[in-house]
Amino acid sequence: MKLVQHFIDGRFVESENGRRFVNVNPATGDVLGEVAEGGKPEIDRAVAAARRAFGEWGRMPVAKRSAILNRIADLIEERSEELARLETLDTGKPLSLSRTLDIPRAAYNFRFFAAFVKGLGTEAFQMDDVALNYVLRRPVGVAGLISPWNLPLLLLTWKVAPCLAAGNTCVIKPAELTPMTATKLAEICQEAGLPDGVLNVVHGFGPDAAGSALTEHPDVNLISLTGETTTGKAVMRAAATNLKRVAFELGGKNPNIIFADADLDDAVETTVRSSFSNQGEVCLCGSRVYVERPIYDEFLRRMVEKAKGLVVGDPFDEKTNVGALISEEHLHRVEGFIERAVKEGGRILVGGRRPEHMTRGYYLEPTIIVDVDRRCEIVQQEVFGPVITVQPFDSEEEVIEQANDTHYGLSATIWTTNLKRAHRVAARLEAGIIWINTWFLRDLRTPFGGMKQSGIGREGGVHSFEFFTELTNVCVKL
Ligand code: NAD
Repeated sequence: MKLVQHFIDGRFVESENGRRFVNVNPATGDVLGEVAEGGKPEIDRAVAAARRAFGEWGRMPVAKRSAILNRIADLIEERSEELARLETLDTGKPLSLSRTLDIPRAAYNFRFFAAFVKGLGTEAFQMDDVALNYVLRRPVGVAGLISPWNLPLLLLTWKVAPCLAAGNTCVIKPAELTPMTATKLAEICQEAGLPDGVLNVVHGFGPDAAGSALTEHPDVNLISLTGETTTGKAVMRAAATNLKRVAFELGGKNPNIIFADADLDDAVETTVRSSFSNQGEVCLCGSRVYVERPIYDEFLRRMVEKAKGLVVGDPFDEKTNVGALISEEHLHRVEGFIERAVKEGGRILVGGRRPEHMTRGYYLEPTIIVDVDRRCEIVQQEVFGPVITVQPFDSEEEVIEQANDTHYGLSATIWTTNLKRAHRVAARLEAGIIWINTWFLRDLRTPFGGMKQSGIGREGGVHSFEFFTELTNVCVKL
């Protein structure tokens, strides 16, 4: 896509002032094309269009809305190869991952919520023979949906599908680094028969730009954001102007706890995946690995061997396991974390540098750091790259305490064959999502979200509808 435009009220348009910014391919550093740079005027027009469209869309019979969402899913599947290629061009992630994860999940997000909304019920409470209460579930209005660059279409559709299924309309602000698949989604929605104005896309930046114009807008009722914790704080302040309802999926610093009785083959295999998938640019990646001392040396030996065997390179090459990081700026940021970790006493066992065979693009070798103290920045802050720390532990009590010792609380993974211990530890970890002997296994009916500074609210199944609908209790005197 040489030119990526906004999609407002059913039309692809440029910004009023004609401003554009460039879109760069992280795998090569080449310019992919230009993107319309929106600001307040575009957000104002998009919100007005979404408000006009709300009446008809919100009142449309659920079965009809659901059929349109299923049609969107069909079209995503029909165009999956094109979408996968665009996603890889924008992000630098392996094409194999775009093909097997990002795009199929995007289609499934629509299918899942199209089906779920048809079975959605509400509550009723009878007060003996005095009165009957029943609850109406209604759409809220116009939603601002703000998405990040790491799983662009997957995470965007995770918001769009329940938002539309519930009868709301939306203005999307995709991440500025990955604008392409959001624009294709607009095209697909139009082809699927979504009425004009129901879904709008405005491209641009976050602070003092399109993002803040959306979060401050007085006629926007809901904001759903996936992004950094610092962004969540800024958006919350902006959303306070008219008390918008907010849902935040924010950063993580997820512990991965491996007890000595774990199935070591499985634990190593999955920990390599949970550490380096998507270049470590997944909010759910386990970046703090805690290993019980009796198996610490053996675990590390195997992890290092596996990490060395990962192929870092051209994301379009079938053999590639680890592609490019999202941008030059992000690569510098991740390298900064590694440098400071070494200054704080950390020892790099593998990786820590750019691969010599990649002369262009923003690549980094999978990196394992040991000998770090729990207070080190690398153990406390989200890096969002292919970098993990591994630390030994001696007791269940100690590892629970260390695992909980950050201001994040998104996910955690426990590896053990001791069933009682698995449940005991799960109940004490401060995280919204806990996996036992697995990772990234998702049932979309379950609540998804973070504790502490990893987020506000939960999405998934009925939880998405708790956010995207308004409840009204009607009390009838009998
Ligand atoms: P980011 O916070 O920089 O940007 C996310 C989006 O917010 C972008 O569209 C950006 O333009 C917009 N934005 C930034 N500042 C804004 C402001 N002041 N007002 C309005 N909008 C603003 O995040 P990112 O770098 O794109 O993504 C990586 C982060 O996202 C990581 O911290 C990662 O953990 C987190 N993440 C969380 C989840 C989750 O489910 N919890 C999933 C994926 C990513």
